[in-house]
Amino acid sequence: MALRKIVVNDTDFLGKKSRPVTSFDDKLATLVGDMRETLRKAEGAGLAAPQVGVLRRIFIADISGEGTEYKEFINPELISATGKNDRYLEGCLSFPGRSFRIVRANKVKMRAQNVAGEWFEFEAEDFLARCLLHENDHLNGITIPMIGEEVFSDD
Ligand SMILES: [Zn+2]
Repeated sequence: MALRKIVVNDTDFLGKKSRPVTSFDDKLATLVGDMRETLRKAEGAGLAAPQVGVLRRIFIADISGEGTEYKEFINPELISATGKNDRYLEGCLSFPGRSFRIVRANKVKMRAQNVAGEWFEFEAEDFLARCLLHENDHLNGITIPMIGEEVFSDD
């Protein structure tokens, strides 16, 4: 496993749409493993493949909330998104030091594949739901400066 360099402030690259994963091979497993290491080191809640320079539909999220379990979501599809969450300010490892106010759904259900290509369904609420929606947005070239209201800590 190796750390990958996180793409920072490159809105042109991060604005691109990612393509589906079609090969569930060793190269994919290595990428997902590297993303785990990179996210752990960065102490983030989630990381999408475009953030490490790979335009494929993959993200990982800290489903434990404590940095102990990072689950991969490959070719994710949003099944449902309900409720309203306007509690947290949101940050992004690709836009360090900045915070944005974004209203998102409070409960989401997704389906995705794991590194072996097996489909699973996953439900999340509150902070984790927000995280999954944020990471899923990255795969469509949507980043938080595009959709959020920036909050300056000096205000
Ligand atoms: Zn992000």
